[in-house]
Amino acid sequence: MSGTEGLPARPAGVPLAALPQQTLRAPTLAPPAPQPAGYPPGGEVLFTAARIAAAVGRMAEQIDADYHGQELTAVVILHGGVVFAGDLIPRLHRVDLRLETIAARSYAGTSSQGAPQVHTHGPLEVAGRAVLLVDDILDSGRTLGTVRDELAARGAASIAIAVLLDKPSRRVVDVRAQYRGLVVPDVFVVGYGLDFEGRWRNLPDIVALAGTEAGEAQA
Ligand code: 5GP
Ligand code: MG
Repeated sequence: MSGTEGLPARPAGVPLAALPQQTLRAPTLAPPAPQPAGYPPGGEVLFTAARIAAAVGRMAEQIDADYHGQELTAVVILHGGVVFAGDLIPRLHRVDLRLETIAARSYAGTSSQGAPQVHTHGPLEVAGRAVLLVDDILDSGRTLGTVRDELAARGAASIAIAVLLDKPSRRVVDVRAQYRGLVVPDVFVVGYGLDFEGRWRNLPDIVALAGTEAGEAQA
């Protein structure tokens, strides 16, 4: 590709300096769109709120059809799964649904700290029940793998997984999500429940943090 792409062609034999100023001026590039207030500086919107809503709607239809008329216990993983679950669960109209939560934490900054710590609060009633584990993102699979094993040990009759985002390139533990909304490349994302050190969970879009491509984010 030529470095003068977009410039008017120079008539043959005319020295650059002899051309009128107008002809030499570089094409005007649109300034980068300003980041809305409250968004991470330099972040790139990967999925807009509209695209997320469409993905959540598709997943809900599928889950609603699969569990039509049946009992289902949704176990939402705190904190990241909360926003997604809040949109998904009211769309499951044809299911006899119970709601439970469990907390898991494996990230510090943009680096996974290995095996997650899992906390329950209250009895977590899953014995003999069909369970739908709901989380924001399936990354290495450690979190969902650990929580899945914990629920199996507590006697869940079946366990399916619903994640809004899947980052398959980073899988370490063999975990598959029966329901997944959008596939993300190996970048660290925030928004729609996902945070960086507690921030940006409230953004309606999913945004890649600047400078967190593979290799850069890992400690
Ligand atoms: P895993 O245990 O599968 O590696 O990671 C799962 C958890 O790590 C997710 O529930 C989420 O809290 C966090 N996580 C993984 N990737 C990202 C990311 O790109 N952005 C944010 N904000 N959190 C992530
Ligand atoms: Mg999480």
